[in-house]
Amino acid sequence: MEVPKPEIVYRYNTGLYINLTNRCPTACVFCIKNKWKMAYRGSNLNLGGAEPDAKTVISLIKTEWVLAPFDELVFCGYGEPTMRLDTLISVAKAVKTGALAPVPAGLRVRLNTNGLGGLVNGTDIVPRLKGLVDAVHVSLNTPDPLQWLAMMRPKPEYEQKAFTSVLEFVRGASRVIPETVVTAIDGASVDIVKFEALAKELGVKTRIRARLEI
Ligand code: SF4
Repeated sequence: MEVPKPEIVYRYNTGLYINLTNRCPTACVFCIKNKWKMAYRGSNLNLGGAEPDAKTVISLIKTEWVLAPFDELVFCGYGEPTMRLDTLISVAKAVKTGALAPVPAGLRVRLNTNGLGGLVNGTDIVPRLKGLVDAVHVSLNTPDPLQWLAMMRPKPEYEQKAFTSVLEFVRGASRVIPETVVTAIDGASVDIVKFEALAKELGVKTRIRARLEI
């Protein structure tokens, strides 16, 4: 069977999703990229190491908009988008400054992340996202540091600081990003009461999402 060409942008629900990288500082137990052979609902998200630059992404967004408008732009693929922070910022800035006309400057921009952007970039990334990203959805999954390690399986170099770093990112985002949400998976043996309490302490909302079939 012929493998479809890699998708840098793909449609899901009413959004246009941006697949910036396949690199990730975690190997989550619930990740379906290997089981689904890097495909996601008909799109091949295997970039084969060929990560797109901002110019390419911007051009694809414009093309897609002309084909059919979408409600939001979502940085989310089979990899952690903040591994490509400069590209992410360039694309979001192009949207928000109206440089992507006819794409409207008011288009909602969302980042789906594991929250490790600060740690992998070696600096607090929230100030760079401020004003460019309307929503940040963080795959936090559990309030328990040890369970987090077991579920998220970060690379060894991040293990020690990872959970704390994610919480710092969430807390920072809650202060300046209009919508910050932490997500967990339904039926994953997580103490949801404690999860909700942690979210409240961090000043964010929660979303319990369905587990993808693996
Ligand atoms: S953060 Fe996303 S891409 Fe990375 S391992 Fe987890 S589920 Fe997969």
